[in-house]
Amino acid sequence: MQFIDLAAQQQRIKDKIDARIARVLEHGSYIMGPEVREFEDSLSSFSGAKHSLTCANGTDALLLALMALKVRSGQAVLCPSFTFAATAEVIPSVGAVPVFVDCDPDTYNIDPRSLERSIAYAKSLGLKPTVVIAVDLFGLPADYDEIEEITAAEGMKLIADSAQGFGGVYKGRNSGTIGDFCTTSFFPAKPLGCYGDGGAIFTDDDEAAELIKSFRVHGKGHHKYDNCRIGMNSRLDTIQAAILCEKLGIFSDELNKRNAVAQRYSAALSNLLKTPLVPGGLKSSWAQYTVQPRLDLNRDVIIRHLKSVGVPTAVYYPLPLHLQSAYRCFPKDPEGLLVSEDVASKVFSLPMHPYLTVEDQDAVISALHDCG
Ligand SMILES: *Cc1c(COP(=O)(O)O)cnc(C)c1O
Repeated sequence: MQFIDLAAQQQRIKDKIDARIARVLEHGSYIMGPEVREFEDSLSSFSGAKHSLTCANGTDALLLALMALKVRSGQAVLCPSFTFAATAEVIPSVGAVPVFVDCDPDTYNIDPRSLERSIAYAKSLGLKPTVVIAVDLFGLPADYDEIEEITAAEGMKLIADSAQGFGGVYKGRNSGTIGDFCTTSFFPAKPLGCYGDGGAIFTDDDEAAELIKSFRVHGKGHHKYDNCRIGMNSRLDTIQAAILCEKLGIFSDELNKRNAVAQRYSAALSNLLKTPLVPGGLKSSWAQYTVQPRLDLNRDVIIRHLKSVGVPTAVYYPLPLHLQSAYRCFPKDPEGLLVSEDVASKVFSLPMHPYLTVEDQDAVISALHDCG
């Protein structure tokens, strides 16, 4: 049994992907070839975002959004601590200060009350709170109504880090249409993954879209060798775009399949484990199906038993960022990040992909029932 089975998906569309790659090899436009534009148009049709701009990876997507917002030193960017390092890593890269916010114990996403405390704290340090980066952790959209109320009241901008959440829906709004910018990743293990690195930025802002088109090609002006700003090299390879065109074609079906696995897990496991909460009106893209042991069951004991019967698991994330050596020096919610620390010591994720057979799901479920 695979934790994420990329081979099963490849088998399903192998002929189409082979033909797509062959076409790129024929036309030879490896950088910004026609498939890049085709894929960007497909992303916009899928999500409803006005502008979909691809780039080299999900980390660069965040960085490009911060560059387009002209974030700089003296400014604070608020983000969760219970997330992948890339969310926070880009903030010092533009000279700003990350301020870590606690998460909700049930959704694992930003806790709006902790966000308010952390904004006030950033001000008390003489920093200007400028941007919130909310994360759709494990595929579940963040609490955007609450977050947008806070960013609007504070005159702050919002970036939705939907690296794990593309395909998710928040109260009728698709991932890609939320925030001043939404970003995603096409890293192979993400819900919509390519066969290498890739990422995208979504925005409805025409001017910001033009800026990002320039930033991702060394800050180019109207002419390729007339650079009018300091940019970077961050493009999606044409071959990856070609692969993603085919993968996006089956993505809705895959999201339904992931959802079916999640429903089945939850029905069978909720008496034994704390299963994922999906608040009303929200749809997760089920990047991960993450649980916690109930009562005094120990995570390590469960994981060891599952491993012994051939069921793979993973821990996302064993350590919140504010406890990691590179990030300890940055400010955080003055009341502490107790929920982040608690959940990091308890969570683990079960095999989750669209091609997980009913037999494999049953094997996961019965192995967990052995532990109860
Ligand atoms: C994967 C991920 C990223 C970064 O994406 P890459 O394509 O690997 O650079 C950013 N934020 C979150 C929450 C992620 O899970």
